[in-house]
Amino acid sequence: MDPNTSYLQKHPNVTSSRVSNFLNKGQWEETNIHASLYDSRVSGEPHVKMEWWPAPGLERPTFAHAAKQEFSPISTGHTFGPGWATHWVRATIKIPKEFEGKQVRFLFDPECEAMVWSAEGEALQGITGASDSGCHHVDFILTNKAKADEGARILYLEIACNGLFGNPGPHSLIAPPNKDRRFSLREADLVVLNEAAWAMLHDMGILLDAYKTLPASSPRAWQALSTANDMVNVYEPNDKASINRALEISKKFFASRGGEANHQVYAIGNCHIDTAWLWPYDETKRKVARSWSTQLDYMDRYPEYKFAASQAQQFEWLQTLYPALFKRVQEKAKTGQFIPIGGTWIEMDCNIPSGESLARQFLLGQKYFEKHFNQRSKVFWLPDTFGYSSQLPQIVRLSGAEYFFTQKLSWNNINKFPHTTFRWIGLDGSHILTHMAPAETYTANATASQLISSVARHKDISYTNESLYLYGNGDGGGGPLEDMIERLDRMKDVDGLPRVKHAHPNEFYEHVDKTNKGLVTWKGELYFELHRGTYTSQAKTKKFNRQSEFLLRDVEMLSVMAKSIAHGFAYPSKEIERLWKLVCLNQFHDVIPGTSIEIVYEDTDAIYADVVQSATAMKQDALIALFNHVSLNSVDEATGMLFVNTTAWPRTEVVAVPGLDHAGIQQVRKQDNAALVIATSVPELGVSVVDLTDTGAESIPVTVFKDTNGDVVLENLYVTARIGKHGQLVSLWDKRDERELIPDNKRANVFYLHDDIPLFWDAWDIEIYNLEKKAELPATKVVIVDEGPLVASVCIEIPISEQSKLRQWVSLSAISPRLDFACDVDWHESRKCLKVSFTWDIYNDMATYETQYGVIQRPTHRNTTWDMAKFEVCAHKFVDLSEYGYGVALLNDCKYGYSTLGNTMSMTLLRSPKAPDANCDMGNHTFRYAIYPHKGAFGESDVVQEAYQFNIPLVQLPVDYEIAANAADSAGATPYFSLAGAPNVVLDTVKAAEDNPNDVIVRMYEAYGGHARATLTTKLNVSAAQKTNILEEKMDNLKISPAAKGSKGKSVSINIKPFEIVTVKFIIKS
Ligand SMILES: [Zn+2]
Repeated sequence: MDPNTSYLQKHPNVTSSRVSNFLNKGQWEETNIHASLYDSRVSGEPHVKMEWWPAPGLERPTFAHAAKQEFSPISTGHTFGPGWATHWVRATIKIPKEFEGKQVRFLFDPECEAMVWSAEGEALQGITGASDSGCHHVDFILTNKAKADEGARILYLEIACNGLFGNPGPHSLIAPPNKDRRFSLREADLVVLNEAAWAMLHDMGILLDAYKTLPASSPRAWQALSTANDMVNVYEPNDKASINRALEISKKFFASRGGEANHQVYAIGNCHIDTAWLWPYDETKRKVARSWSTQLDYMDRYPEYKFAASQAQQFEWLQTLYPALFKRVQEKAKTGQFIPIGGTWIEMDCNIPSGESLARQFLLGQKYFEKHFNQRSKVFWLPDTFGYSSQLPQIVRLSGAEYFFTQKLSWNNINKFPHTTFRWIGLDGSHILTHMAPAETYTANATASQLISSVARHKDISYTNESLYLYGNGDGGGGPLEDMIERLDRMKDVDGLPRVKHAHPNEFYEHVDKTNKGLVTWKGELYFELHRGTYTSQAKTKKFNRQSEFLLRDVEMLSVMAKSIAHGFAYPSKEIERLWKLVCLNQFHDVIPGTSIEIVYEDTDAIYADVVQSATAMKQDALIALFNHVSLNSVDEATGMLFVNTTAWPRTEVVAVPGLDHAGIQQVRKQDNAALVIATSVPELGVSVVDLTDTGAESIPVTVFKDTNGDVVLENLYVTARIGKHGQLVSLWDKRDERELIPDNKRANVFYLHDDIPLFWDAWDIEIYNLEKKAELPATKVVIVDEGPLVASVCIEIPISEQSKLRQWVSLSAISPRLDFACDVDWHESRKCLKVSFTWDIYNDMATYETQYGVIQRPTHRNTTWDMAKFEVCAHKFVDLSEYGYGVALLNDCKYGYSTLGNTMSMTLLRSPKAPDANCDMGNHTFRYAIYPHKGAFGESDVVQEAYQFNIPLVQLPVDYEIAANAADSAGATPYFSLAGAPNVVLDTVKAAEDNPNDVIVRMYEAYGGHARATLTTKLNVSAAQKTNILEEKMDNLKISPAAKGSKGKSVSINIKPFEIVTVKFIIKS
């Protein structure tokens, strides 16, 4: 080295910019490494001849269909479009003689996504065109060794007119799609690579990153920079030997080993494909094939390389649509290179789906992986979901998994989550080993700088010196690229850098589990401090989901009942599974949260229509099997009504029967002319018959009147509710407790229109500052509609704006303190949000929110930034505010966004974001909610049961009373299942067993947070009973005893812990 020129350490920025320029395309590419990357290149005819066929409209035809069409000649510069269209190109390729003996690649860049097909119709590999930077992947290896006498070969290219993030409009990734987008064929060349030049590029990329990221105190930083600088010095663009001399220089740097104390990175390739988001489900099916076929090729080329893919649904799509590819995936799964992971049907949202839905995600997912890959996933894999319910640790454990991976909490916008590797403890005390990748991404790019800084971000390195690193382009970027694998292979063990190995995620978790020095814990939900609007956006989808969950619940339960008594009734296992798969599909983490583009919701509407229609038909089939001997075809001749109760406790309710016209009817509801009938003490999971000629006059009627102030007063045996002229509740008096629930000068049922302008993520985020800007919405009309004796109601009209309005029916029945609100909203706003709030004379630092199979308490104050961040939270069927001795619950039939600040509860009803769906939530909406005052704090109440009832109407069938009453017992007046001794335990699900539809599964859970000893009795012909996990595998045998005196059947007694989910399998004597 010449001492006069060796002053690098005095001008490091100049030198590092020099190295950077050497590695980048652009201004210096004719003199830098890019001048040497390809030894040869040819384009156009005679070597590459191209012909083209555009599929009509927006169809996505199969290969077999496309290959039969007439193709016309094109050349580079040809354009493809519009957005979402499909075009096919047939390329006839003749490799030049001078490429003999060399590896030859076909560079095909249509600026969008494409699939390379063989002439025989085999899907070979995905292409990601140039329009999305960083994910460019356009080369396909034609041959590793070209032959001299090689003839012409034909390839087909299926061109999908979308980028990996769909077709966003101008200015933003999430702008609604630009349907007119076009893509241009940039290149279609045959090339031979200069492998040494590529090696130099990979080496120097690492050296430059190491210099930039390592601290200046590290000698390795300086060694990296001077090594890279020396390499530039020896390089000559026209001298291949100079590249080999440069590689001799870098070899010395990489030969210096790190040692065992260095941080160990477990690297796993992946290609996170959102099952729908800025593109529809049908495009995802092709994205999966494109990305995974690309990865299969890398697995052949890099034997140590490992790749994980989640979501059983995506595997099933591949299996159905690309059976040959699926076989290759199965083969690579056997060798351990292709790793099916996650255990769930799709990577679901964990806020909105019910407890049973989460259970089904695992049941369907694990069953699929077991059947087709002979393995279950031990890792629950959810890198990108918007918050994690406190019941997940238990559900994960009960589903055969024990580890959890995510990283999404790194997006929190208020508090930094304090852990990387920890034990996450759920609601019931179950815990799972959890890791949040310190790289803070699941689409890492395998650069040295990312690896170095991810070690710096590891928050638990004192207890465990390992981390998981998920790299690879997602969403159609095809997963890891060649350069990423090349770089990682260079960084296996290099002094100054973390050590890297390709590994199955299980290897990481098992190692940490065994070797950690005691891990920290985190108890309760992993609340995501962002995307709080996802509890509300796309309201219709959320409503359909709730409706589908309860409809399938009824179908399964009634089908079990029907099978037990009706000979020849076959439990529709297959159809039920098909519908659960559809419901689970729509629970994907960009679909049900409401963050997809408009065409996705056209698909979900059609899917839900299928679910609702098919499930309703199956429910009807079960009812016919159960009650055919008594039920009438129409209500016209009915002298009685038969009610079926699918909840697990007796119910007395006023039921609205549409179309019924009978002399004994006491009241017809004016809103819809439905007859009102009291169903008294309908037994749990059983039936009762009401005599329509018996007027049931013993109940004390509900009354309604307008008082001298103009307030409307609704009153029954339990409460007096006073509605002011603005449509708000100004007083709610509990007559049983002689207690006013609304504080002086406060009100409940107050509507507000808030500004709703987030920082960036429009459909995703409700932001805290929007709470500062709101307008109260008073009613312009309050009219008495129904005047009892069974139901009294008031209709309220509230103008929201010039273009939007709300109508609401507030009703009180004669037999319950529950005040019901049915809403009908015509909604045409832009970036506004509709909320309704309730202020109660109740004080508590905590409010109770229903979550999956349990409840969670969250603060009603904002003491700390962690409390404050929860200004909008998720709840399922209810929110409750209780104090010693008393409480009020707010029930709902399809709303999920809530807050409680002090003694004011708010429910978010509708939003109006404009991206990525420009028409999100525009139009008509109907929903219901209710106020349920109760004696005793939440823990001593029956709020959970009341919320089920609010969502699950009694099933009604018109009958001839005499015939039905006599036949009632055979039809089910004795409950099929009943729970005794444990009012805190809720029986949720009854279904046929997966392995044998003769056997029956009953799922229940402890709902209030206390121990219980429950006795479960069934009148089915049971020969044995087991406690099982969610996968329906035996955990314990349960002792069967004869049922208690006075009831038929067999019983099992079960000890249940707070918030425990218990699954019982009854083996039925055939
Ligand atoms: Zn995602």
